[in-house]
Amino acid sequence: MTNPDTGYQVSRGTRDDDTPIGAAARRASQVLTPGGAGTLPRPLERRVLTIANQKGGVGKTTSAVNLAAALALQGLRVLVIDLDPQGNASTALGVDHRSGVPSSYELLLGEVTLGEAIAQSPHSPNLFCVPATIDLAGAEIELVSMVARETRLKNALADSAGDDLDYVFIDCPPSLGLLTVNALVAAREVLIPIQCEYYALEGVGQLLRNIELVQAHLNPQLHVSTILLTMYDARTKLADQVAAEVRNHFGERVLQSAIPRSVKVSEAPGYGTTVLDYDPGSRGAMSYLDAGRELAHRGVHRGGN
Ligand code: ATP
Ligand code: MG
Repeated sequence: MTNPDTGYQVSRGTRDDDTPIGAAARRASQVLTPGGAGTLPRPLERRVLTIANQKGGVGKTTSAVNLAAALALQGLRVLVIDLDPQGNASTALGVDHRSGVPSSYELLLGEVTLGEAIAQSPHSPNLFCVPATIDLAGAEIELVSMVARETRLKNALADSAGDDLDYVFIDCPPSLGLLTVNALVAAREVLIPIQCEYYALEGVGQLLRNIELVQAHLNPQLHVSTILLTMYDARTKLADQVAAEVRNHFGERVLQSAIPRSVKVSEAPGYGTTVLDYDPGSRGAMSYLDAGRELAHRGVHRGGN
């Protein structure tokens, strides 16, 4: 029979988790039990990943905050550095980012230390954020005339306040300006989210050329370690075609777990939270937990390559 409220098929006399809602509730309670989501291996040394794609709206911020939350939930200490003046990552992590709070802007200018700029996310004791305020909008221009303008974030990250972190994710704006260059110089790994839509690979070539330039001149260790497919809609042929093309092009660097297009994922930031908090049993939450696990295990087995 069909439940008139949900439209889902239910059968009498079965366990709650035989229904989709029951199964989601069971997953949620498991995820929310301390240690219930499992624990992940700590990397041998802190991993710094820049999340970049100059194409707008491909899921950079969503992936930064949800991967961070997924790893934090599984016992790792994670920092998200919000390098986008829009401050969307700060919002999703529930961190104050009104003009005037210590932020990535002051960090780049050398006015505060990393320790002073880090705020605790209310969502997890393991989750931290350097917020972005609107002041950052002027930074691209202000940085131009500064000494060591490309290495300011890297230098700031050398602060001892960052020593006990396992992961740092840097959320970039949709451009290849000095903010993104600072992020590419500060990280060893680049994670590129690719949206499973038309023109998915548009601009990726340009991004890769920029990464090569940074590699050649400023950060020889930099490499594209991870590709994450986002907004994957299994009902469309297009999503499969894009996924196949991306896997063909980038091979093993593409995570097996693709993030589905999901209303829950898009609703969560409106409540100042991540999908792992907003609806922990949802497909979106599960996919970010899976992607986080894969990322963590790959780093341990393959040295972050
Ligand atoms: P920008 O380039 O502006 O910084 P971005 O690359 O950081 O954008 P997001 O802000 O993460 O992209 O996502 C763009 C929009 O798509 C947002 O409204 C977000 O809520 C939505 N979105 C992201 N991932 C998903 C998903 N898996 N399912 C549904 N909506 C999603
Ligand atoms: Mg963003």
